[in-house]
Amino acid sequence: MKNILDFSLEDLKLWMEENNEGKFRAKQIFEWIYKKGIFDFDNMTNISKDIKNKLKDNFYIGVPQTVNKYTSNIDGTQKFLFKYRDGNIIESVIMKYKYGNTICVSTQVGCRMGCKFCASTIGGIVRNLTHGEIAGQILRAQSEINERISNVVLMGSGEPLDNYDNVIKFIKLINSEEGLNIGQRHITLSTCGIVPKIKELADKELQITLAISLHAPSDDIRKTMMPIANKYSLNEIVDACRYYSVKTNRRITFEYALVKGVNDKKEHAKELCNLLKGLLCHVNLIPINEIKENDYKKSNMKDIDAFKETLTRCGIETTIRREMGSDINAACGQLRKNYMESN
Ligand code: SAH
Repeated sequence: MKNILDFSLEDLKLWMEENNEGKFRAKQIFEWIYKKGIFDFDNMTNISKDIKNKLKDNFYIGVPQTVNKYTSNIDGTQKFLFKYRDGNIIESVIMKYKYGNTICVSTQVGCRMGCKFCASTIGGIVRNLTHGEIAGQILRAQSEINERISNVVLMGSGEPLDNYDNVIKFIKLINSEEGLNIGQRHITLSTCGIVPKIKELADKELQITLAISLHAPSDDIRKTMMPIANKYSLNEIVDACRYYSVKTNRRITFEYALVKGVNDKKEHAKELCNLLKGLLCHVNLIPINEIKENDYKKSNMKDIDAFKETLTRCGIETTIRREMGSDINAACGQLRKNYMESN
């Protein structure tokens, strides 16, 4: 049995031909799944019983089941725990903005990057998600809220560039007209900075936004927070980003989680200015989400404002990320971890 969501339209056309059915059936099935949100072959009314049986013998529609759902009373952010057929659980978050619904999807079950502040990586990696499984998160979420999702950020559990081939296929699928028709400029991929893969992505010349989880102005500090810093230096990351923005004409987003006494002083802001000088970029400051597994503490608002001020003064556009869903443990990996511990 195969997950039909892992078949591109072309793949499915080919399958139809090989199975002596009309190629146009593939498009009909895509319409049921991606346009109408129907996840049961039996409800596809323009498909004959014969073909339905053939499909059911070969495929399942791998949209995950909703295990739990939490809605923030503060801002309406919704967090979902989804379960795949093999029992693995991941989380997805929907944030409601004026310009539309944004979903934060997971790309792996767990993560092997080992960032010290992150709850998703504590148990290591379980497995990669296929592109259809990642798309399934959007399909399930849309049917849960009964509204279209127009923006996607790959910022849930997992390192997208550690699951590169599936992530590229996922972007193609959701971007395609017959799929979810989500514009490339409405897709953001966030990475801890796997340099060769950033370059490979740049060569694809997609119009997606690249976000880098920088979190430190120097290699020394970064090494204390993120093991990946032992492999790639900040200079190598910034060079790869420059290459990405030249290739795509896109502005890079740098995410910087402020941790009290670790990376939030004026001297750090100045160091960051020097690092990013001349790059087409934008810095997003994030008050770190405190988790019980480490001692990292949120910076004071005063320090956060001062950090922003220093960056702005040296010409770097800077925003402070609004905290969403803080009453529902919306930070990376916290829900899955709590769920796994209590079940
Ligand atoms: N692996 C990718 C995407 C997943 S993490 C990456 O590293 O970018 C999504 C974002 O949440 C990253 O910027 C990550 O560094 C950040 N993050 C993880 N745990 C956090 C925490 N406790 N507080 C604030 N941001 C956190």
